[in-house]
Amino acid sequence: MERILIIEDEKDVNRLLAQTLQDSGYETVSAFNGMDGLRMLQEEQYDMVLLDLILPYKSGDEVLRELRKDSDVPVIVISAKDMVGTKIDLLTLGADDYVTKPFDLGEVAARVASNLRRYHKKEEKKQIIYKELVMDTEARTVSADGADLELTAKEYQMLELFLQFPNKVFSKVNLYETVWGYEYLGDENVIKTHISNIRSKLKRHSDTEYIETVWGLGYRLAK
Ligand code: CA
Repeated sequence: MERILIIEDEKDVNRLLAQTLQDSGYETVSAFNGMDGLRMLQEEQYDMVLLDLILPYKSGDEVLRELRKDSDVPVIVISAKDMVGTKIDLLTLGADDYVTKPFDLGEVAARVASNLRRYHKKEEKKQIIYKELVMDTEARTVSADGADLELTAKEYQMLELFLQFPNKVFSKVNLYETVWGYEYLGDENVIKTHISNIRSKLKRHSDTEYIETVWGLGYRLAK
């Protein structure tokens, strides 16, 4: 079940939000000031945060700023109608959405659902799956047939390029300049060695050919 943290100091409002979200099938946890809210976020995992702006001890925007240093949990800000001007700031600070008080509870529930959906879609995209390979582009890990590969940073980057552009033929110059980030000086062996290392690491776990040599042109993801 998805857990939502509600940071709102007005007890009635907090309870009303909790009840609405529980009725929609979520688990809720309540915090009644900014300090507690932030501490709870640092101690435990939540799938979403509803965040009031005017809070005792630590304001909503401070909570948001600190939270964003190491978390991308979706945040919906609850703000009073006369704070419209701050909305833009909040979105640049990292809020995903906002609702204005007095709010329609049905609308809050709908916003929560749509933001969670969007977030999960974003999460899914962090994985590239190709044949027996699974690449997690956030954790920067790759597994082949379920076994983790120990790739160097450069090997990982090369493999990521092939997986991200499955139809492109990469010349040695392309690969070199993209992965190393400076001008290619004609040392073909660097690329050859890296390609051969990636291939042999893959071969330990999978019989599938992943990188194809295109004679005279370069390399691409094998079909
Ligand atoms: Ca408040």
